[in-house]
Amino acid sequence: MADTVQYWVRNFVDGAYTEPNETSGYDNIDPATGATLGRVHAADTALVDRAVTSARRALTSWAKTPVAERAALLRRAADRIEERFEEFVAAEVADTGKPITQARLLDVRRAPQNFRSFADIVAAAGQESFITETGDGRRALNYAVRKPLGVVAVIVPWNLPLLLLTWKVAPALACGNAVVVKPSEETPSTATLLAEVLAEVGLPAGVFNVVHGCGGVGEFLTRHAGIDGVTFTGSSATGTRVMSAVAPRVRPVSFELGGKNAAVVFEDADLDETLDGLARSVFTNTGQVCLCTERVYVHRDIFDEIANGLIARASALTLGRPTDDATTTGPLISQAHRDKVLRYFELAEREGAELLVGGGVPDLGAELNGGFWIEPTLWTGLTNDATTVREEIFGPVAALIPFSDENEAIGLANDTDYGLAASVWTNDLRRGHRVAQAMNVGMSWVNTWFLRDLRSPFGGMGLSGLGREGGASSLHFYTDPTNVCVQL
Ligand code: NAD
Repeated sequence: MADTVQYWVRNFVDGAYTEPNETSGYDNIDPATGATLGRVHAADTALVDRAVTSARRALTSWAKTPVAERAALLRRAADRIEERFEEFVAAEVADTGKPITQARLLDVRRAPQNFRSFADIVAAAGQESFITETGDGRRALNYAVRKPLGVVAVIVPWNLPLLLLTWKVAPALACGNAVVVKPSEETPSTATLLAEVLAEVGLPAGVFNVVHGCGGVGEFLTRHAGIDGVTFTGSSATGTRVMSAVAPRVRPVSFELGGKNAAVVFEDADLDETLDGLARSVFTNTGQVCLCTERVYVHRDIFDEIANGLIARASALTLGRPTDDATTTGPLISQAHRDKVLRYFELAEREGAELLVGGGVPDLGAELNGGFWIEPTLWTGLTNDATTVREEIFGPVAALIPFSDENEAIGLANDTDYGLAASVWTNDLRRGHRVAQAMNVGMSWVNTWFLRDLRSPFGGMGLSGLGREGGASSLHFYTDPTNVCVQL
C-alpha cells in the first residue's frame, strides 16, 4: 500500500460516489514505472447488491423515457466527454501506460463517437413487421415490440478501457437499459470519470453504476439474480466462467473474447503500404488489442522483404515516457502479464523460433525500469503446431510463416481455435474478396486493419466470442422483442 494515498478511485452507485473503506482497497499501479498512483476502492458484495438494486429501481422510468430523449442525452454525454477530453486522456494514460498520442487519437476519441453513433442508430431504428397469409383465408399483422433487456452487467478488460466500455454502455443506455459496470481492476479510472460525466448531463441516478474489484466482484455480479444479461469483453477463459455463472438463470450473454489473428500477405501486395499496416496490426497498444496480428503468413517470394521491412519498423518504434508525444509504444499492463509474455518468449525458443528482433526486456533507464516494458519481437521458424502459434500471447509479438499458394494460406490462417479477425494484403481485387470471405473470423480486412464502421457487426467465432455487437446487432442484444400478432 502507498505511504501516502494520492487519490481514491471510487465506486459509483445510485448516482453518487461511495465513501472508500480503508480496509478494502488495492493499489492503482502505473505500468510505465511500477509506482503506486493511488488506491482503488474494491466493492464488497453488499455494495454490488446496492448497485444492482439501484439499477433495477432506475430501470422502470429509464426504460419508458422516449427514445429521442435518450438519444439526446447520449449526444450531451459525447459533448461533455469532449469538453473533459484531456482529463480522460490523462486518466487512461496513467492507468495503462499507453502513449498519449494513441490515447488521444484512438481510445478517448472513440468514446464520444460511440455515444453519437448509438444515438443515431437507436433514433433511426424501426421494427420489423410481416403480413401473414395462412392459406385458409386468414390474414394477420405481425410486429415486434423491442423492450430493454433490463439491468445489464457490463464487464470489460484493461487494454482499451474507455473505448470498450462506451462501446457497450452507449447502446445499452440508448435501448433503455440500466447498467452495472465492472471495469478491469487494472484500469478503473476512466469508468469512474464517465460516471461523473453521465450524471452531469442528466442521466437519472441508478441508470449507470460502477463497481470496482477483481474477478470475484465480476463473478458475484454475473450470478446476481437482479441481472438480466451480461455483456463481456475479456479472455476466452473468463468467458467460459461467465457463461456457466449465468447458465442456471438462462440469461443472454454477448462475448467479445480473445484472438490469435492472422495476416495473409500475397506476392502482389503493395510492399510499403502492407508493411506499415502489418506493423500497426502487430504493435499497436504494445500488441494488447484483441484484433492484433500474432500470425503473419507471407508468400515465399516476398518473405525476406517482408521480414526485413517488419524488423526495420519494429526497431524504429519508440519506447518511452507515455506522456511524450514521440513515444509510440508503452509497457505491458502489469508485472503478471509481462511474466506471462516472457514465458511465451522462452517457450518459442524451445519450439525452435529464430528471433528476428526483440525477445527481451529493454533498458530504459532508472525512471522507467520499474515498469513492465518489453521489446517488440518477431519470430520465424515456427509452424502452426507450436503452442506459441496457437495460444493468444497478447504482447508485441508475431510469428512469420511462409506459404506457397492461396489454398495453403487459407488453410494455415483458419487452422486455429480462435476466429476474431484477419487481414489480407494483395493488389488482386478478386483474390482480396475471395480470401477475406474464406477467413473463419468475425472481421476480415483487405489492405487495412482495425478500420471500423460502428454500424457493422463486431465479434468473433470459435473461442473468440458469441454474438455480435455494433449497429443493429447491438440493438438486438440490448433489447428483447415481444411479437404481436393481430388477425386482420
Ligand atoms: P480477463 O478475462 O482476465 O478480464 C476481463 C474482465 O473480467 C475484468 O474486468 C476482470 O476483472 C473480469 N473477470 C475476471 N474473472 C471473472 C469472473 N470469473 N467473472 C466475471 N468477471 C471476471 O481479460 P483481461 O486480461 O482483462 O483482457 C485481455 C483479454 O481480453 C484478451 O484475451 C483479449 O483478447 C480480450 N479482449 C477481447 C476483445 C474483443 O473485442 N474480442 C477486446 C479486448 C480484449
